[in-house]
Amino acid sequence: MKEIILCKQGEVVLKGQNRNWFESLLNKRLREALEPYGKFTVYQRQCTTYAEPADGSCDIDGAFEAAKKVFGFVSLSRAAECEKELGAILRTAGEYLPRFLEGVKTFKADARRSDKRFPMTSPQLAAEVGGEVLEKCPYLKVDLENPEVTVRVEIRENAAYVHAGGVRGAGGIPVGSSGKGLLLLSGGIDSPVAGYMMARRGIKLEALHFESFPYTSERAKEKVLSLAKIMSEYTGNFNVNVISLTHIQEELKRLAAEEYFTLLLRRFMMRLADRLAKRDSCGALITGESLGQVASQTLSAIGVTDPVADLPVFRPCIGMDKEEIVQISRRIDTFETSILPYEDCCTVFTPRHPKTRPEIERVLEEENKLDVKALEDEAFATLQTYRTSDM
Ligand code: ATP
Ligand code: MG
Repeated sequence: MKEIILCKQGEVVLKGQNRNWFESLLNKRLREALEPYGKFTVYQRQCTTYAEPADGSCDIDGAFEAAKKVFGFVSLSRAAECEKELGAILRTAGEYLPRFLEGVKTFKADARRSDKRFPMTSPQLAAEVGGEVLEKCPYLKVDLENPEVTVRVEIRENAAYVHAGGVRGAGGIPVGSSGKGLLLLSGGIDSPVAGYMMARRGIKLEALHFESFPYTSERAKEKVLSLAKIMSEYTGNFNVNVISLTHIQEELKRLAAEEYFTLLLRRFMMRLADRLAKRDSCGALITGESLGQVASQTLSAIGVTDPVADLPVFRPCIGMDKEEIVQISRRIDTFETSILPYEDCCTVFTPRHPKTRPEIERVLEEENKLDVKALEDEAFATLQTYRTSDM
């Protein structure tokens, strides 16, 4: 019996004239995601992408889990493929469906024909398949109103497919369809979630992490690389760039008033991010900021750090509560890594009384005590690049 994965496309189907382009991005991303699980042929008919294992050595369980993380699909099912002939369909249904019905009490059968040449109506076919299932799983009861599981047979162009219903896909639109963005990736909870959310809206990611060695440790950096690796199952592979802020932080400590320290540091971060983003053709910066969460994320603090970047800054977490962000981070599996207790460069030399309502004039006055351009150039020169595919 041949088992395949059916992926129902989401918003992509609404894309009118650009639909082909969206679909090819989507299928490319799916191919990439399935690569570790064997050789799959990916193609599409109607609003569905099919992933078909080329041989018996494919890991279809692994592939199914990976496909669930590909943005652009609303639902996925594993299905058995067979000839468009009643005998074959019933045999396949009888063999394939029972394992999805263990522990289930009620079900119904549903049939759909996109190939209307099939010589039975959909209700007739559904009744036959339902009968076959009942014979194999006599403990089941039919419930047409509110079944626990709906088994389906679909008669399509090339073949018939039998499956036990779908699971939710990752939603969103294909990575790459909205261009590229540079994510400021700390080791915290929020920024991986922010990256995930923008990738779900089609942004291809690139990341930038700031370290402050030896004030931050090698392990803090490794933690960030692990987070990137987990995210890449959704976003596809990306580069993680690392820049050292050590000297900037030392100079800030030496020259600037303590209460402006974090704000000035964040202005450096935004400038460096803007510069890297432009170099690497990114059209936006992305941060995990959430309004009012900490002193540097008040409206006035953001007002002071935002203007140093020319590119638009996307802050998908800005209106979310911490609890909501945590929920997403648990779901995408970054939470446990994010809470590992390593220091971040923002927590090194944290002022005792940070300015929550900074005035731009005072910020500039403090900033002018430093040679901003020289410090920025020097920091930029520390850039190192890692790739999630090498981790
Ligand atoms: P997170 O949970 O994402 O670390 P946070 O609540 O700790 O966020 P901040 O430390 O104020 O908040 O950082 C706000 C945002 O600035 C982060 O979401 C991230 O986008 C960026 N950022 C902070 N520290 C770093 C860093 N070391 N490297 C890169 N970006 C950073
Ligand atoms: Mg942080």
